Amino acid sequence: MRIGIIGTGVAGSLLAEMLAGAPGLEVEAFDRMGLDAAAEAGTGLNVGPNAMKALRLHLPARHDAVRAASLPWRRWFIDTAWGERLFDLDLSEVAEEPGIRLRWAELYRVLREPVARITRRGLMLEALEEDGGGRLVPVLRDAAGALHRPGGFDLLVAGDGRYSRLRALTAGVPVPEFHGIAMSRLLVPDASDCPYDDYGQWFNGPARLLSYRLPGGAAYIAGALPLPSAEAEIPEVLRDPAEQARIYTPEGREPCAAVAWMIAKHREHPRDMHWARLQVSPLERSAAGGRVLFLGDAAHAMVPTLGQGATQAIEDGVLAGAVLRAGGDVAAVAALRDERVEFVRRFSLEASDTMMGTDPIEGSRAKMGADFLAKLRRLYTDVPGRI
Ligand SMILES: Cc1cc2nc3c(=O)[nH]c(=O)nc-3n(C[C@H](O)[C@H](O)[C@H](O)COP(=O)(O)OP(=O)(O)OC[C@H]3O[C@@H](n4cnc5c(N)ncnc54)[C@H](O)[C@@H]3O)c2cc1C
Repeated sequence: MRIGIIGTGVAGSLLAEMLAGAPGLEVEAFDRMGLDAAAEAGTGLNVGPNAMKALRLHLPARHDAVRAASLPWRRWFIDTAWGERLFDLDLSEVAEEPGIRLRWAELYRVLREPVARITRRGLMLEALEEDGGGRLVPVLRDAAGALHRPGGFDLLVAGDGRYSRLRALTAGVPVPEFHGIAMSRLLVPDASDCPYDDYGQWFNGPARLLSYRLPGGAAYIAGALPLPSAEAEIPEVLRDPAEQARIYTPEGREPCAAVAWMIAKHREHPRDMHWARLQVSPLERSAAGGRVLFLGDAAHAMVPTLGQGATQAIEDGVLAGAVLRAGGDVAAVAALRDERVEFVRRFSLEASDTMMGTDPIEGSRAKMGADFLAKLRRLYTDVPGRI
């Protein structure tokens, strides 16, 4: 069986590693990025303990390499912008091992390295054709504009992310759902004076800062700011650090040391801040009569609240690999993954309540309750071993 993987980000790289060398399978991967590209170098990621469990059970060498490139994510706290603690969780209470904090570019480096020899880089999927045997033939364009047709594949896998060309070609462009939240992100290269370490969130009304330290002395700061309506674009004024300082500073009180530090960093690095709107797209697992499989963001871009985007892409790549290696098809992947992914999508949205109307103080305190912690435990541990 010949399997082609479009996109070697998180899910695609792991699927390729899971399948490489498996008896009866011939695997080839393609990515539009050249070797030296580091598109998301400026972003930090926190990846959940569930992804680390999937790696530990199915790809232990990758588990160890990812751990070595990251800092452990052991704790999650939520404070008000004036420093009152609302939520404080040691992740070991709900998980079997810590999550991780690392730079996006580092995760890509560690995941892509073992599949470099079966990946053709600098090739971007543009169109699809069929060969005489009904197998799909990807049509890929290189940087010089030349087209490449690497032959027919029994299965093509979309690992090409949120704006998946393969999904657009075979299932249509997914209609995103917006939730009226603008998100900023900033990587602070020198965070030696940062007054915190592990993963924290700070609320001033529904506006929220999220931050943690990264390997190499850096820190990552993500902001979430309400927009006037669900579909509204990000107004220019919001990109002004003075306006952000106004929104994150509690009325009539001093901000706590952590919030004051983040406001100062926004002022120091206004041009390094990146902006996006929070959005989700509906789950789609396969197309073209089972000849195309969607994984990661190509299948299910989700809200970032619980840090499950890359985390689920890791679960997807590893577990789809385990299913296909054992002789399963796309229906078997869907049977293993889709209910789990729907749970994670629902829970991620539910956990976003404090940015979407629920009182952030009461809503954050409620997250220490048994119901939320039971769902977190399910999120962080419900990962199968042998398939
Ligand atoms: C600002 C931001 C912060 C985030 N923070 C977190 C976080 O803290 N924790 C978390 O778990 N998740 C986070 N996410 C989500 C996470 O990054 C994604 O969910 C994850 O990268 C999805 O992995 P993937 O493998 O599906 O796709 P990607 O990682 O996007 O990889 C797609 C790959 O496909 C290639 N490609 C794309 N189009 C083509 C084409 N036409 N032809 C060939 N190749 C192509 C790309 O070059 C890339 O290598 C964040 C996302 C953003 C934007």
